[in-house]
Amino acid sequence: MTANMPRALALVLAALTACTSSAGSSTAAPSPSRSALPTTERPVAVATSAVTRGDPLRCTARIEIAPVPDVFEGEWAPDSRRIAVSYIRLKPSRENVTGTEEDQRLAVIDVVSGAVQELGQGSEPKWSASGRLLAYWMDDLDLRIAEGATIIARFRPTEPDVRWIGEELLFWQGPEIRAWSAAGVRTVSRVAAGDEPRYPSDDAYFSADGELFTITRYGPGATERRLLGTTATGATTPIGTADTRFVEWSPRGHTLLLRSADTVTLRYDDGRTVSERRSALPGVVHAWTADGLLLFGSVSPTVPAGDAYDRFTVWGGARSGETATLPNLYGIRAFSPNGAYFAGVSRTGVRSSQLEIYRCSATWETDLAADEDVRARARKIAGDPLKLIRPTAGAYTSYVQRDHTGIDVAGPYGSLIYAGNDGVVTGVGVHPFGGNYVCVTQPDGIELCTYHNSVPLVRPGDRVVRGQPIALIGMSGITTGPHTHWEAKVNGEIVDPLAY
Ligand SMILES: [Zn+2]
Repeated sequence: MTANMPRALALVLAALTACTSSAGSSTAAPSPSRSALPTTERPVAVATSAVTRGDPLRCTARIEIAPVPDVFEGEWAPDSRRIAVSYIRLKPSRENVTGTEEDQRLAVIDVVSGAVQELGQGSEPKWSASGRLLAYWMDDLDLRIAEGATIIARFRPTEPDVRWIGEELLFWQGPEIRAWSAAGVRTVSRVAAGDEPRYPSDDAYFSADGELFTITRYGPGATERRLLGTTATGATTPIGTADTRFVEWSPRGHTLLLRSADTVTLRYDDGRTVSERRSALPGVVHAWTADGLLLFGSVSPTVPAGDAYDRFTVWGGARSGETATLPNLYGIRAFSPNGAYFAGVSRTGVRSSQLEIYRCSATWETDLAADEDVRARARKIAGDPLKLIRPTAGAYTSYVQRDHTGIDVAGPYGSLIYAGNDGVVTGVGVHPFGGNYVCVTQPDGIELCTYHNSVPLVRPGDRVVRGQPIALIGMSGITTGPHTHWEAKVNGEIVDPLAY
């Protein structure tokens, strides 16, 4: 694994040094107004009103950070102060109709000091328990482990999902689960012949504590099979039903969420399960608190996002019925590990976005109606002749060209997918290669469909509005990774959604 590392290391280090020095200096300096503040825990808006004092599930105070555009994923550091984000940077390309390609870059943002550290090309950042080591992927398909700006390891796991347990990193190597640490690599277990996950026809995810894992096996149509495994032994057992479309681990322990179109099931750490009909829940969108409570609620249309607060309710545990108030954001939608912050993105244009951080447990509330930044973003979107909003926080990885009939927007598994414009849901089903899809037909006759979804959040006949969540990102059908295939038709003919 490490025999030829020094040569690769030298190249990567050169790139890292260049990126860090240029971008770090332009964004790390605090603005004059900020440096005058006694603390950074200050809302951007001038108008504030009293809120319930110290309610940890109320994240209503927008904090000032350096603008970071087009962030599509984020991973809080264990210190709850830094967040590693992947964001899009445009680079010229002759290959695409837009004349650009969307490069995926990595940066670490300190939400207290405002400092931004650029790490160069990369995605899917994961912090070790100490926050000292950061694992991430690069386009060359190698995983890097960085300590500050230094790459200390580079290797090629066979599944994208890796999981830190302390300072040891669990990863898949064919049928084996292995663990990397600074001391070397050890084999933890091996799954039975035939269970081995083969990305991207399968994907695999470790639980937060690393004790268990899931493997989902995709195929044409709705032929998914799911396995639940034990990391220490490699033993697996089928999980879910023929209707299961989505599985996700809690951010603590190994509680597992399973969703179908109509049912939600929570499998607790001790193996007990609780299920509920979707129609009996307080909303179709779920979220996890930092300590692993599962929330359900509704997300207001994300146009421009960050202009409203959404109400959620704790479901399926001792604190069932407690309420949470979360900012109307899309993309990351994650609490920091200590529950102090909630991160996501708002729309700065029909196809662009920016990182937003909100303080939880705040004793004040940002008055979003009076926030000039919110109003400016809303005006820009309203004034754009293009109407279809980017359907999810993610990068365009393939365009309408030759025999490709849509735009591929890559985003993390489970991210929310949104209606591009107002319309009526005219299709929810399974396509042999496109997997789970949702189609919305607009009053102007445009039919806009999103494929390879996991679970649909709407039903045929539903009226939806622009920016309303309609599905979660998945890998159903035949895919090369989690993304949505975003396809538009006018009078049955394929058109380019980017032109509308
Ligand atoms: Zn596609």
